[in-house]
Amino acid sequence: MPNTEGLNLEGVGVEVRNGAIIVDDHSRTNVPSIYAAGDVTGKYMLASVAKVQGIVAAENVAGINSRIDYNLVPMVVFSDPEVASVGIAASRMIPSTWLLRCRIP
Ligand SMILES: Cc1cc2nc3c(=O)[nH]c(=O)nc-3n(C[C@H](O)[C@H](O)[C@H](O)COP(=O)(O)OP(=O)(O)OC[C@H]3O[C@@H](n4cnc5c(N)ncnc54)[C@H](O)[C@@H]3O)c2cc1C
Repeated sequence: MPNTEGLNLEGVGVEVRNGAIIVDDHSRTNVPSIYAAGDVTGKYMLASVAKVQGIVAAENVAGINSRIDYNLVPMVVFSDPEVASVGIAASRMIPSTWLLRCRIP
């Protein structure tokens, strides 16, 4: 659950759904001067996504038209050994999409 309590998002008119700040692929909220990145957006709640959302937000603030592609999300489980994946879940694939799997020994 995104931790957005006490940020007064309603007060500044930022759109929130189920506690998550709604952002587009440019990390923009519905308020033009406010961006959001990380778990507060409730998208993937992964460290890798938070980092890229932050970079995308900063680049857009700096005037660079930057966006995140949520179809290419890398996921790393910081376990030992680590587990990683990239791409969309098989359940979200359209029938014509190829599914590639590889294993690193
Ligand atoms: C137990 C656990 C295991 C996880 N394992 C993985 C994993 O294996 N792989 C993975 O990719 N992700 C994992 N995650 C998720 C990952 O930690 C988060 O997705 C990532 O930290 C999100 O970054 P963030 O910057 O959005 O939030 P955070 O890292 O939570 O940073 C938010 C910061 O904002 C501060 N803050 C909060 N409220 C305020 C306020 N009102 N004013 C000022 N500052 C405030 C907090 O103190 C905190 O420092 C795990 C999370 C947990 C809890």
